[in-house]
Amino acid sequence: RLEIRNLVCRFGGRTVVDDVSLTVQAGQVTCLLGPSGCGKSTTLRMIAGVEMQDSGEIYVDGKLVCDTVFRVPPERREIGLMFQDFALFPHLSVADNVAFGLKGAKEQKRERVEELLRKVDLIRHIDGFPHQLSGGEQQRVALARALAPRPRIMLMDEPFSGLDNRLRDGIRDETLAILKEEDAAVLLVTHEPEEAMRMADEIALMRRGKIVQQGAPYNVYTRPVDKAAVAFFSDVN
Ligand code: ATP
Ligand code: MG
Repeated sequence: RLEIRNLVCRFGGRTVVDDVSLTVQAGQVTCLLGPSGCGKSTTLRMIAGVEMQDSGEIYVDGKLVCDTVFRVPPERREIGLMFQDFALFPHLSVADNVAFGLKGAKEQKRERVEELLRKVDLIRHIDGFPHQLSGGEQQRVALARALAPRPRIMLMDEPFSGLDNRLRDGIRDETLAILKEEDAAVLLVTHEPEEAMRMADEIALMRRGKIVQQGAPYNVYTRPVDKAAVAFFSDVN
């Protein structure tokens, strides 16, 4: 379970994330949805630990991970990351990419790598290299890599935006199924209402650094909080 309380982030006097609080339960997907520049990626970066908040707290499974004085380093937060620009290592094989964050005995690592590559249906490419894979296949390897250390929390920032429309739906559904199986708490950032409607158990609608509405996709969509929310959702059909 991921819990963030009253997160604030300022850049040069400008408040970019303004008192954001959220809880994501294990096995659930919350979509952080909002227009460009509203502070979605900054929120994720603070949770990942690569950006420091000005105030507020972050908890993973009830344990404090970060406040303004105490800070667990990013690599010990049990958080998996899948960002759009978080590319595979081109010089490593598919197997080595997936094994990258794994510790322990060689055989155990190999077992986990094979398990995940079977899940994302790429076991036949285990000894291949990233440049030999399609965009969608690379995305699935990135998913396998992020999930390999069994993170309690999975942060995804527009993970499907590089894919063409035809591929995207299938990969979204597969990704969702795998995430549910792994029982991670997922916080997924998107600026596409359609994607949020498709993937989320809960939507948090963000605008100018604040969460303006939060709830089940159907409720957020059918009872938008204001005119700006109506306009934002109007391109979903
Ligand atoms: P998009 O949908 O375009 O990715 P976003 O919601 O992810 O947008 P953020 O990347 O969180 O937006 O940025 C929010 C605001 O904070 C933007 O106005 C951005 O210019 C500003 N910002 C982000 N990072 C920094 C930084 N390191 N220094 C100064 N300003 C920043
Ligand atoms: Mg962003």
